[in-house]
This record gives sequence, structure tokens and C-alpha cells, in this order.
Amino acid sequence: MLNRQAILRLASKRWTSTVQRADYKLNSEALPKNATVFSMIQPTGCFHLGNYLGATRAWTDLCELKKSGQELIFGVADLHAITVPKPDAKMFRKFRHEAVASILAVGVDPEKASIIYQSAIPQHSELHWLLSTLASMGFLNRMTQWKSKSNIKQSENKEYQIDDTEVGKVKLGLFSYPVLQAADILLYKSTHVPVGDDQSQHLELTRHLADKFNSTYKTDFFPKPITMLAQTKKVLSLSSPEKKMSKSDPNHDSVIFLNDEPKTIQKKIRRALTDSISDRFYYDPVERPGVSNLINIVSGIQRRSIGDVVEDVSRFNNYKDFKDFVSEVVIEELREPRTEFEKYGNEPDYLHSVVESGMRKAQEKAAKNLSNIHRIMGF
Ligand code: AMP
Repeated sequence: MLNRQAILRLASKRWTSTVQRADYKLNSEALPKNATVFSMIQPTGCFHLGNYLGATRAWTDLCELKKSGQELIFGVADLHAITVPKPDAKMFRKFRHEAVASILAVGVDPEKASIIYQSAIPQHSELHWLLSTLASMGFLNRMTQWKSKSNIKQSENKEYQIDDTEVGKVKLGLFSYPVLQAADILLYKSTHVPVGDDQSQHLELTRHLADKFNSTYKTDFFPKPITMLAQTKKVLSLSSPEKKMSKSDPNHDSVIFLNDEPKTIQKKIRRALTDSISDRFYYDPVERPGVSNLINIVSGIQRRSIGDVVEDVSRFNNYKDFKDFVSEVVIEELREPRTEFEKYGNEPDYLHSVVESGMRKAQEKAAKNLSNIHRIMGF
């Protein structure tokens, strides 16, 4: 028989959600006073609309709504970026630099959030090692990102076809990068992580490793971080709406980049793959993924429900008007980030100073937490 305390513990466990909405502007009470929010983005190319609507716009909202006692840390995941085909050093340097410019361009306030380079804080890598001794191959094997990033084939029902020769070519860094991601998050004892849906599985692993560490060392040192998902948690490719919009997509028509000119945005949206129903526009992600993706994008940008946007677009009876409407909404939303991105591109010293100051604060916390982790583990 369970005693009263055990029942209460169980009940609170059941009701403690591990996923929360990231639409802070609609729900400014969502974040507790002492929350530590952490998230990063990889410098693997120019940021796109998916990164913005899935993650970085929420970072900006959080800066605006920040209360005293809350801590925000946003970063450039440059160690993760080298797990996929690497650009040359000159290009990589440019991408790292541009990543900081993009974070600032979307409105993240460096006075309120620490902006860091992951590689410049060595505690990330050390905690990765410590946590990797708790991470099972079985759990990592279930992650889908290393499979999709290694182009491992999928069957009709989307199951990955594990072929020993193909798997044998997968690099250890790519396979184990979710453990590094867990280390990134746990190093700061983060409580909330605003990310796109593609990171949900990795957040599960992070919570699992936090639990493993706590139970192994009989401590409650690590909190279990909550995944924060925006309504636009998965923006799809414009030309292949069965997959997500991605920086690494070789077909640039499928991706709206933060610094695309208005004309380019309009051209890309006009070319977006839709379907043959050309006189009615409604939301049906299964039968009409292309149209639904565009509706979802508008709904995300306007911070309105899908139903409201569907009502708006029901007045259109041809693709030209529907797509021109979507283009206008996107162009308007990205106007400021694009000009800000250009401006910051010409201010390398300022970017450097932003990261320097962000890292001083973050490094202090990283060093203190890692030293406590060492103590707990008996080093
Ligand atoms: P990455 O560029 O892969 O480092 O992603 C940076 C952030 O953007 C992560 O939180 C991702 O989950 C998010 N993200 C990336 N692509 C998309 C997408 N197509 N839709 C929504 N969120 C995305």
C-alpha cells in the first residue's frame, strides 16, 4: 500500500508536464520566477523561417518578458555543427559570426540574455563525457536525427532501414551529439528549453540523463528541463512539405532565409508545392500539407489561431491571391530582421563584445556547476 506522501509524490509527477507552449506573448505567466532558459542554434548556414518561428522568436519574446530572477542563455552550437559535413575554416568562421548577428537581428537583447559560443566554454565538453557514461547505446539508437542526417533510408511507413554497412559509416560524434546537447542544457541546470519539434526526442534523453545522474548519485542536483514548443514547432520545406525546412537543403527554393530579399521570398512562395484544389484554402495537414504549411506560417507570424487564419484565407479563390497574401505577411515579418542582420554583419567588434560579455556570465555558472558535479561524483 502506498502511503499518503507517496501518493502525493506520484500525483505531482503525473501532472508535471514535460512539454509547455512557447507562445509566451499569449501566456506571460508560463515561466516561473527562477527559471533558467537555455537554447542554441547551429552555425551551419543562414537562419531560416523555421529557426525563427520554431525557436529564436521565442527567445526574443522571453527577453521582453524577462522578470528578475530569471536567467536566459542562448548560444551558437558550434561543436554540434561539426557533426555534419564541415565547411572550410574560413566559411565556418563566417557562419559562427553570422549566427550571432542573426540572434541579435531577431531582437534578442544581449543586456537580458547571455549569448555564448558553445566551444568557448570547455565545461560543455567535459560534462558531455561524464553524462556519456550514463547514456545507453539503446537509447541513443532510438534517436532519429543521426539517421536522417546520415541519409539512412526510410521505408514507406517511415521506419529507418538499418543496414550495417551504412550504420558503420556513422561518426561517433553524430551518434552521440544528443548527449552533448543534454550536457549543454544541464550544465546550467536549465529548467526550460525553447526548441523546434525536431529536438523533442533529445529533450527526452536530457530528462532521462538528469534522472539517471540524480538516482545514481542520490541527489536532486539536476532539474528536469521542460521542452517549450511554439505553435509553429515544425515549419515544412516549401518544395517538399513532407519534411522540415532545413538549412542544409540543397534546394534553396524550399527555404526562406532570414536575409532573403522581398522579391526572393515572393518567388519562393509562388513556387511552393501545393495541390490541385485551386479555389479553396483550408487546413488539412495530411491531404494538403503544402497549403497547411503556408497557413501555419501565417498563423505563427500573426500569433493567431489556425481557425482565425483559415477564416481569413477562405476569401481567396485562386492560388495567386492566396500566395501573395502569405508572401506579404512573411516579407513584413522579416523586414526588420533582414536589415538588422545586414547592419550587424558590418559590426564585428560589437558582435565580439556581446559574446565576450555573455560568456563571462555563463562561464562563471558553468564552472561553479561543474565543480559541484565533480564533488557529487567523488572526483
Ligand atoms: P538548428 O539550426 O538545427 O540548430 O536548429 C535551431 C533551432 O531551430 C532548434 O530549436 C530547432 O528545433 C529549430 N528548427 C530548425 N528547423 C526548424 C523547422 N523547420 N521548424 C521549426 N523549428 C525548427
